[in-house]
Formats: sequence, C-alpha cells, structure tokens
Amino acid sequence: MPNMRCIVVREHGGYDRLLLEERPIPAPAPGQVRVKVAAIGLNHLDTWVRRGVPGHEFPLPLVAGSDAAGVVDALGAGVVSVREGDAVVVLPGVSCGACEPCQTGLDQLCRHYHILGESCDGTAAEYVCVPAANVAPKPAPLSEAEAASVCLVFQTAWNMLARRAELRAGETVLVHAGLSGVGSAAVQIAAALGARVIATAGGEEKCRRVRALGADHVIDYRSQDFVQEVRALTGKAGVEVVFEHVGEATFGGSLRCLARGGRVVTCGATTGGNVKLSLHAVFFKSLSILGSTMGSKGDLRRILRMFDQGRFRAVLDRELPMAEVGEAHRLLEAREALGKVVLRV
Ligand SMILES: [Zn+2]
Repeated sequence: MPNMRCIVVREHGGYDRLLLEERPIPAPAPGQVRVKVAAIGLNHLDTWVRRGVPGHEFPLPLVAGSDAAGVVDALGAGVVSVREGDAVVVLPGVSCGACEPCQTGLDQLCRHYHILGESCDGTAAEYVCVPAANVAPKPAPLSEAEAASVCLVFQTAWNMLARRAELRAGETVLVHAGLSGVGSAAVQIAAALGARVIATAGGEEKCRRVRALGADHVIDYRSQDFVQEVRALTGKAGVEVVFEHVGEATFGGSLRCLARGGRVVTCGATTGGNVKLSLHAVFFKSLSILGSTMGSKGDLRRILRMFDQGRFRAVLDRELPMAEVGEAHRLLEAREALGKVVLRV
C-alpha cells in the first residue's frame, strides 16, 4: 500500500509537537469504511490533546482530529449502509453499539466511548477508517470544508441545550463566546428551539457576526460586564439557562446570571476548570449545574438533516493546508479566528 500523510502527537507541548508523518494507507476492517478525507475540522479539543491536560492521560502517540468530510473509497466486509463514492462526514464519537446506553440512544455514555483524535486515532489524515456507524451523508448545502467543521460542536451544543438543560421556547439563554465553535452552534440551536438568545463576544466585529447568527442581544465582554448587562436585559430576573464552556473566567458570573430555578450547563473549561462556587446560591436559588460531553449519533444525524434543510449554517473562518496545523492551533488559542478553522487535505 502507498503511504499517506497524517498529523501525529507523540509528546505534549507547543506547536512543534504537531508532526506531519507518513503511514501506510489503512485497509478497512470488517464493518468499517475508509474515507478519503478532503477537509479536517479543528476543535479546542485538538489543542488540549497537543498541550496535555493535568491529571489526564492521552494514549500517545495519537493521530489528531475529531471532525472530517470526504468520500467513501473502500468498504470493509459486511457494510451495507453506505456505498463507495458517497460524500460523507465523519461522526466523531465511536461506541460499542452493544450496551444499554448505546441501545437507548445515549452512546456518549457508553463505557467504551472514544472520541476520534482524543482517545483513539483521529481524522487528521489523508485516509481514515471508521465504523460504518460513524459516517453520515454530507449535507448538500455545505462545502466539504464547512461540513468538516460542524459535527463535534453541533452535537455538543445540541446535547447541552436540548437534552441536558431542556431549553424551551420562550426561555432566555445566555451563550458565552457566541462566535466560538460550540458558541456559534449554541446560538443557532437556541434560536431554532424558540428561545431568546443573549450571547457574548469580544469586539465589535465578532458581536456583529453573532447577531447575524440569530442572537437577540450581544454583549461585548471586552467593554461590558456581562452580569450587569444580563440583569438589565432581563429586568433583574436573570436567565433560565447559561451555556458554559469558558470555566474559571466566567463561571461565577454565570451562576449570578441565573434566575431562580435556573440551569447552567457546561461542556468545557477553556480558561481552567477549578471554579469556586457558593453552595448558598445553589440551594437558595434552586439552581442546577449540568455536565455534558458530546451527544448521541442519532441526534447528530438529525442535526445534519437540519443543515440539509438550511436551518443551520456553518461558521467558517478559513481553510489552511495540513502543513499549517500549528498556525491553525495558534488562531484558536489566540481567539483570533472568526469561526471554525479547517485543514485542507
Ligand atoms: Zn456501548
């Protein structure tokens, strides 16, 4: 078999730890499909895998990447759900399919759950073999680069808002960093669910773009105090739901923004995860703190149909060649990207 290029992390550290290596093109095992990758989507998760997380061990060396779009170019034995030549996106969560959570549609709770590029080899390669369950038709309105940018963040944001926080029409939600990957998904999902959306963003240009995604109000966190602004916008009542993924820098304020009976739902901690909180506020105000990771593949397939119907759009900042993966990480970490960054294969 000829070789292919892939991005490998062998040791944690700076951008120089993102190695462009050659490996033999893999053959699909029974039940797997091989995707010829056209575009690889980047997530904050990629930067954590590169940098390392204190107290967490990644199985290095690891091929990076959780999101991708491309074309099925080979089928393993027994695959009937897709055909060679199908344009697909890769679904980033791999699960056993045989346990109770998997079979009740909660595959992200499977004990054998893996996120591609995080706990098993990922999508940052010219070819990737995944279970047939882990590809879905590429939404027709999206380019390959756009399609490669949506799965992980929309699945995450959907599970947080629709499943965990059970956001309802007419409620008000605060979405932090509304132009980030999960933030831009959350703004669109919350609006589609009929909620009133307050979002934050840093700087005028980002605020303008978040408004265009469907946010009703956008707070510029660089010049405004989001807690005060939320109080003013809700007549001091607070919001029913806060969408958290920032962590230490915002979590205390997020709790203060909540109305009585409110829910904060979190999927990440880009500024650190060791938050202080007063239990007094939690019980006096009857608050709920909800954790969430990823989402079900069934929900993700429905989200992709909503892209097909034109209900959601991808928020793409730019495409870079694979060799510039270090610059792609820098753009994410410096919060310079106005949307998702995708590597072109
Ligand atoms: Zn399972």
